[in-house]
Amino acid sequence: MAIYSYITEPLTNFENEENRKAYEEGLKVVRGYLGKKYPLIINGERIFTDRFISSLNPSNHKEVIGEIAQAGMEEAKKAMDSALKAFETWKKVDPRVRADVLFKAANILRRRKHEISALMTLEAGKPWNEADADTAEAIDFLEYYGRQMLELTNIDGKILSRRDLERNEYRYIPLGVGAIITPWNFPMAILTGMTSAAVVAGNTVLLKPASTTQVIAYKYIEIMEEAGLPKGVINFIPGKGSETGDFIVKHPKTRFISFTGSRDVGVQIYENAAKVREGQIWLKRVIAEMGGKDAILVDNNIDVDMAAQAIVTSAFGFSGQKCSACSRAIIHEDVYDQVVELIKEKTEKIILGNSEKFENKMGPVNDILAFNKISEYIEIGKKEGKLLTGGQTNNEIGYFIEPTVFVDVDPQARIMQEEIFGPVLAVTKVKSFEEGLEVVNNTEYGLTGACISRNRQHLEKAREDFHVGNLYLNRKCTGAIVGYQPFGGFNMSGTDSKAGGPDYIILHMQGKTISEQF
Ligand code: GLU
Repeated sequence: MAIYSYITEPLTNFENEENRKAYEEGLKVVRGYLGKKYPLIINGERIFTDRFISSLNPSNHKEVIGEIAQAGMEEAKKAMDSALKAFETWKKVDPRVRADVLFKAANILRRRKHEISALMTLEAGKPWNEADADTAEAIDFLEYYGRQMLELTNIDGKILSRRDLERNEYRYIPLGVGAIITPWNFPMAILTGMTSAAVVAGNTVLLKPASTTQVIAYKYIEIMEEAGLPKGVINFIPGKGSETGDFIVKHPKTRFISFTGSRDVGVQIYENAAKVREGQIWLKRVIAEMGGKDAILVDNNIDVDMAAQAIVTSAFGFSGQKCSACSRAIIHEDVYDQVVELIKEKTEKIILGNSEKFENKMGPVNDILAFNKISEYIEIGKKEGKLLTGGQTNNEIGYFIEPTVFVDVDPQARIMQEEIFGPVLAVTKVKSFEEGLEVVNNTEYGLTGACISRNRQHLEKAREDFHVGNLYLNRKCTGAIVGYQPFGGFNMSGTDSKAGGPDYIILHMQGKTISEQF
């Protein structure tokens, strides 16, 4: 097994015509299988139920990407039995072999890179660059977690001291069957990261992907199977949150739940997981990655162009549908007018349209639910602030919402407090850096944030008091890279489980101490 040191997967340069052609080819491949029917996968067996959902292209909602069979209770139970059985053998498989499945999967994903990204362009409405970054991140997770697992196998001796006639060992063992509930906004990267981390640790899982990106989820399983993952280790059970989701969270044999999604669903999962059910002999572990209301704080004496660019990129990348997205810009009064003017200028340059076209750097929002929710917040924003730019919505063909900016918004306004998860930015003016820092910390979330300043003391103050899991200084607040910026937040943003960080795998394991006397 040849293990090279970890480096991140390079992003594709689409200025290069060859690369653009390769992406077009990827789109062609995906177009070749549009509308196909997809089964559940339980213990490796393909199962079609009589209930399907159609996955639609959000850029053009008449276009069906695939029809995916949906699991009901019966299938969820079957999946649990399969995962429990597979756990008995998978947990004994040499961790190096488990890691090797991830390394192989990374290579298969590299081979199919543009196809998988193109599928995200069609199923999730991701513009080319965003989709390409999503696939690259998925590759990174596979490479990184594989290596993390290898490091964990060498943990003995690093932690425990030695005494004569005594042998002390400390090892991490897997937990059991996990419920993995994944989001649609990073349909490949986050799904791959969450599932692969659980599996490389020796657990088996029930995977319930978000309802709008189930074809992408299916492709992940195909890749893992090709990489040699045994049957029953990942059981693919797309279905309703209120039905299968609930079932797998509440099941007494579920050992842990790994969830990425909204605050409200996360809180509900946490509550349900806390209750000990009949026949349950452990306390379930919950790994939750929830929402954000992320701020960029702009000091005076800064490069106004850089500040505006950081805000616009963080606010509107993938239509603001990242929990790391900047939805609050908090700007010092000395530079407020200048930065606001530049935000307007840069926002108005963004080309909105069908993600399939390379020129369109911003695509649609996820589905009708997202479209309606964001549209409502735009109406609320019109009452709470001054519309600087955007505000138009159109769902005739796809779910399009203009990048929208409200200025002069009160820090307590709803659009400054509630997660919108769309291309809506609220801007507020503060009199001083200190006041800005207070505004930054006045939400219930604490995921990402950025501070833009040239004042060393202010940067140091932000380092201490800007209360978020991912703090960025003098840059945008999105785009954490696996192994470089472990990602996860405080407070209502989740359990601060750091995806892409050195202790993520351990969250899926438990430590066992063995001491023998001779
Ligand atoms: N890790 C992503 C970033 O840093 C965000 C993930 C998410 O939206 O859940 O931008």
